[in-house]
Amino acid sequence: MIFDEEINQTVRYLKPSGIRKFFDIAATKKGVVSLGVGEPDFITPWHIREEAINAIEKGKTFYTGNSGLPALRQGICSYYKRRFNVEYGPENVIVTVGGSEAIDLVLRTIVKPGDEVILPVPGYVAYAPIIEIAEAKVVEVELKEEDEFKLTPEALKSVLSPKTKAVILNFPGNPTGGIMTREDYAKIVPLIQEAGIFAVTDEIYAELTYENKHCTIAEFEEIKDRVIVINGFSKAYSMTGYRVGYILAHKGLIEMFLKVHQYNIMCATTSSQYAAIEAINNGDRDIEEMFVSFRQRRNYIVKELNRIGLKTFMPQGAFYVFPSIKCTGMSSEQFCETLLDEQNLALVPGN
Ligand code: PMP
Repeated sequence: MIFDEEINQTVRYLKPSGIRKFFDIAATKKGVVSLGVGEPDFITPWHIREEAINAIEKGKTFYTGNSGLPALRQGICSYYKRRFNVEYGPENVIVTVGGSEAIDLVLRTIVKPGDEVILPVPGYVAYAPIIEIAEAKVVEVELKEEDEFKLTPEALKSVLSPKTKAVILNFPGNPTGGIMTREDYAKIVPLIQEAGIFAVTDEIYAELTYENKHCTIAEFEEIKDRVIVINGFSKAYSMTGYRVGYILAHKGLIEMFLKVHQYNIMCATTSSQYAAIEAINNGDRDIEEMFVSFRQRRNYIVKELNRIGLKTFMPQGAFYVFPSIKCTGMSSEQFCETLLDEQNLALVPGN
């Protein structure tokens, strides 16, 4: 490409998302069933859609404040209190363009070139490229099935270094379905406290925790100032296309995130923010209905995968399954390509 030498070399060598690459192939084939993109298949509940329509009809078409509508920020705080028993005030919230912007904003604000960021893998595809764009180093730590895909203190300790700036936590996890209970977090909190690093916790699947109640690491007062919570409306309320997410953090950090956000985004889409107010205040029942359906599907598909011989961990949260294909002797790419060729079924290779 003609501009190869001129552009930022980190971006030049950034690998495009393997998920997208795979689904672009799938999109050219007829009759493919595609199970890969992390998106609920429910249409957004009507009362939420109606609020977006109302906002436009009433001419609420202007910018909002940079950090988001006050009623939405208040709603998010009340929600975190009633659902997860954690106290935040509106000054601790910034409304973002999905969890995606929140991840970018947080990582680019807190890391400096040369810092290390601990990334549990397998994990969501967006973290590593953003860390790399910020010229920090991704330090992977493997989550193992024998540990139920939890981050153990031994694993965390093995990758902590004086250069560590943050650890990324994503529980319930994409794609493993692993969760961390209060007891699990209690084992890693002292390490985070002692190292004085940030805990960036992406809780976008918090509402989809099946057997246990979701625990957020923000519950631990001793490190709360260093915890940065990322969440959003895409998954719990099936609102992927609205593009609304949020960050909860210490006021001092929020002020820093806001500097970046005000220059590159200004504010999240106004009509979507009005829809999000309706969701957060009156959407608890919708969450429950979708939850029941996701749990039924999880139970069915895990049972069937195990029955046909693919050993599959019972995901404790989120809406993914991560079967082991070891017994097939194929690589994950080979397995997925064969499945796409022969059965018209598109999955995401584990690598
Ligand atoms: N975090 C995780 C773990 C995800 O799986 C996703 C979406 N697949 C996101 C963040 C981003 O979601 P959104 O930008 O729609 O809020």
